[in-house]
Amino acid sequence: MSERIIYLDHAATTALDPRILDAMLPYFTTEYGNASSIYTLGRHAMQAIDHSREQVAELLHARPSEIAFVGCGTESDNLAIKGMAFAAQQKKGKHIITTPIEHHAVLHTCQYLERFGFTITYLPVDEYGMVNPDDVERSITDQTCLVSVMYANNEVGTIEPIAEIGRICRARKVPFHVDAVQAGGALPIDVQELKADMLSLSAHKFYGPKGVGILYTRQGMRILPQMQGGSQERGRRAGTENVAGIVGAATALELAYAELPQVTPRIQALRDRLIEGILRIPRSRLTGHPTRRLPNNASFAFEGVEGESILLNLDLLGVAASTGSACTSGSVDPSHVLVAMGLPPEWSHGSLRLTLGKRNTEEEIETVIDALPGIIERLRGLGI
Ligand code: PLP
Repeated sequence: MSERIIYLDHAATTALDPRILDAMLPYFTTEYGNASSIYTLGRHAMQAIDHSREQVAELLHARPSEIAFVGCGTESDNLAIKGMAFAAQQKKGKHIITTPIEHHAVLHTCQYLERFGFTITYLPVDEYGMVNPDDVERSITDQTCLVSVMYANNEVGTIEPIAEIGRICRARKVPFHVDAVQAGGALPIDVQELKADMLSLSAHKFYGPKGVGILYTRQGMRILPQMQGGSQERGRRAGTENVAGIVGAATALELAYAELPQVTPRIQALRDRLIEGILRIPRSRLTGHPTRRLPNNASFAFEGVEGESILLNLDLLGVAASTGSACTSGSVDPSHVLVAMGLPPEWSHGSLRLTLGKRNTEEEIETVIDALPGIIERLRGLGI
């Protein structure tokens, strides 16, 4: 089955690169020690984790002590936001600033904090999903304990002005968290340049294993752990370390950045061809920023169709894609990202996200360009 699949959903997840699997395998079999054990086998595991931490730190321009390995991108976001909110609330206040286009890992965490008396300001975004740094400046009060803005949006690919926002937060002494889960391995990340105080990544987005997240926390930033237990990860994340996963995450990040100069121009050219071909469909539009977008992201809206119907029809042709719409209790809700960008309902229901990866071919792209106009026309004729 997998041979026939045209996989265009790399923002959802990526296939583990065989070279990364090779790096991980010994830690499932021969090097199975617990990193907390003091005998040789345990020390080998700890050495592998230490080495992985150094690799990640170097790639992000951070110190090894600032890197913590956690269970996924969602956990990294939760630990950053709750960890900082609960640690800083007394010294600062209970005000958090974020955007309405964040991933649910951020949005639902902020909503959860409302139960503890935190108030949340959602910054406006423009029609492309861009945040204006001036709005960050205006929203900060003496009660603000955290600003959290994503580096690149997972649905429409828009790249946010993180360095500008970082400068403002640093000047106002407000901790700044960046959800860089979609940017990791795709855009260079320098935590010094971005002035990020915390930054979240997830290995399965850059050809690493699922179930491994990374949290950068700048030295001097105090966060409260969100799980009680052992003192692993310098007390930031209790629980026996996923050694194979950690090795996989670090290897994946290293490979992604080593290959970036070759991979990005190729993917971007295929992506541009896809956009050009698909925008020939009547009543179609590109969503997200026309130029400031992730190199692999092609996202669209089609007037008068349901995104889920497009997906099902593409699936029949072996094409894996995604829509921002979510089916909740029998009705289809448009994506919160497109709603925040002001897209009218006749358009926002018909969203399609195609995200490319390093193995996609020109032929695959042409197949989709050929198939999609007929699918949209048929669905419009059927009124779905
Ligand atoms: N943040 C963003 C922007 C994402 O795109 C995702 C996953 O799609 C996450 C967080 C959550 O990451 P994970 O799937 O590793 O929990």
